[in-house]
Amino acid sequence: MPKVRKVPMRMCVGCGAMRPKMEMVRVVRTPQGEVKVDTTRSAKMSGRGAYVEPREECLEAARKGRKLDRALECEVPEAVLAELEQEVRRRAAAAQAARA
Ligand SMILES: [Zn+2]
Repeated sequence: MPKVRKVPMRMCVGCGAMRPKMEMVRVVRTPQGEVKVDTTRSAKMSGRGAYVEPREECLEAARKGRKLDRALECEVPEAVLAELEQEVRRRAAAAQAARA
């Protein structure tokens, strides 16, 4: 019997697709009301989270539609979006390196 492990899935705010949580970039609104890109190893920062796939088009869609604001129910500062963009690029590059 193959071992079936249940993978936690999350929805991408950019395109609405369900993806494994560990492949997503998490943005969190902390209980203190700060918005941050969760770069902890397994996305463990406490607070309300929203997820974006590490793809430019999903990031763009999320940014244009201000979908993160809606998901987190607060205004996401431009600095956080810039940080998110960097994280998306870093992850996308890492994923590409892993495939090569
Ligand atoms: Zn997406």
